[in-house]
Amino acid sequence: MDHFLYRDGALHAEDVAIAEIAASVGTPFYVYSTATLTRHYKLFEEALSPLPHLICFAMKSCGNLSVVKTLGALGAGVDVVSVGEYLKAKAAGVPGERIVFSGVGKTRDEMRIALEGGIRQFNVESEPELFALSEVASSMGLTAPITIRVNPDVDAKTHEKIATGKKENKFGIPISRAREVYAEAARLKGIDVVGIDVHIGSQLVDLVPFEEAYLKVAELTRQLRADGHDIRRLDLGGGLGIPYERSNAAPPLPLDYGAVIKRTVGDLGCELEIEPGRLISGNAGLLVSKVIYVKSGEERDFLILDAAMNDLIRPSMYGAHHDIVPVVEPAPATLPQPYDIVGPVCETGDTFAKQRALPPMRAGDLVAFRSAGAYGAVMASEYNMRPLVPEVMVHGDQFAVIRARPTYDEMINRDSMAPWL
Ligand SMILES: *Cc1c(COP(=O)(O)O)cnc(C)c1O
Repeated sequence: MDHFLYRDGALHAEDVAIAEIAASVGTPFYVYSTATLTRHYKLFEEALSPLPHLICFAMKSCGNLSVVKTLGALGAGVDVVSVGEYLKAKAAGVPGERIVFSGVGKTRDEMRIALEGGIRQFNVESEPELFALSEVASSMGLTAPITIRVNPDVDAKTHEKIATGKKENKFGIPISRAREVYAEAARLKGIDVVGIDVHIGSQLVDLVPFEEAYLKVAELTRQLRADGHDIRRLDLGGGLGIPYERSNAAPPLPLDYGAVIKRTVGDLGCELEIEPGRLISGNAGLLVSKVIYVKSGEERDFLILDAAMNDLIRPSMYGAHHDIVPVVEPAPATLPQPYDIVGPVCETGDTFAKQRALPPMRAGDLVAFRSAGAYGAVMASEYNMRPLVPEVMVHGDQFAVIRARPTYDEMINRDSMAPWL
C-alpha cells in the first residue's frame, strides 16, 4: 500500500496534488511520501517484534538526507556501503552505533573515518579486508566490531545483476570456509567478532531462498559457538521484493518474511538486524514527468517524455518494469491505446516501456512512474548534460524540495578549464 492515490480525478501524494508540485518545481522530479516510508518501516518493526532487533535501512536504495532523517527519527539504523553514505547518515542524525558498514571494497581511509566517528559493526567481506581492518583499528588503539559476510550458495532466483548469494558472486566468503576465517579473526588484534552477516540479493519474491540461507546461518551460529566464538548478533541482509506490476501476484509481506526469520534464527538468543532498502523506499516514491511530444510512427505511437534513462535507469539497465500512470485520472469509458514510452536521450536504450496502454495522451500531460523510490534518484546522472533530477518530499499537506535541480551555470562551472586552454 502507498499514499499515491487519485482524489477527484487528480493523482495526489498524500494530501498534495502532483500537478501542484509539478507547477512549482518543474518536471521531471521524484516525490517521496513520508507516510509510505513510515508505514513500510513499521511493517518490519511489527514483523520482527518482540525479538531484539534493529532495522538498518539500506540507504543506497534512496539516500536523500530527508529520507534518511525521517527513518532515523523513527529509530531505524542505516546500512551504508561507502564512507560517503556513512557521513551522510551521520549528517541525517543517525548515531554511529546504529550504522552498519557493508561493501566488498572498503578502503583503509573509509575504515579510519568510520572508526573515528563510531560504528555499530563492519560487515567484513574477505580475508584481506579483515587484515586491513585489524591493522587500521589497532594502529588507532581501537577495536572494530565485525561480522563476517558469508556466502551461503543459495539461488535467490532474481535478476542476475542483483543476485549476490551464489558461490560465483563476488560477495562474502564461502560459508564452507567460515570456521577457518572466524578462527583467524579471533586471533587478530583490534577485531571483536560480534556475529554473522548474510545478504543474498535484491528483489526476491520468494521466501524459500531466505529460508535456506537463514537455516545455514543458524547452523553456522551453533558451530561457531561450539568453536568458542561469542556470536551475539545476526545481520540477515535485505532483499525482500516489491510489487512493480499491480497486475502480478503480490510478493510476500514483511510479516511472512518475519515469520521465516523467527522460525529459522529466532531461538538463538541473537540480536537480529535486517537491511531492507527497496521494500521501504521503492513504493514510497514516484518519478513524475511531462509528455513533450506525441509522435506517430509508421507502426506505433511514441510518447516522448522529459524524463530519460539518466533519471531512471532501471528499465534500460535491468529491463525493469514500472507501472506508468496518467496524473489526470482517465474517465471510466476512456479506451486505452498503446504507446512506446521513451526519453529524449540519444540511445535506443532510452526506452521506458513498449506498447504500454495509456489513455490518449497529449503534449503537456503529466505521467507518473510508480515504484520509483528505490534505485531511482540515487542512480541518476547528468548524461546528455541533463540536470540532475530534483527530489521532493511530501508530509501530509506540505511538500518541500529536498534536492534542488541544478542550474546550467552550476553544471558548467563544476568543470574547470585546463590552464593551457
Ligand atoms: C543492496 C543491499 C541491501 C538492500 O537491498 P534491497 O533489495 O534494496 O532490500 C542490503 N544489504 C546489502 C549488503 C546490500 O548490498
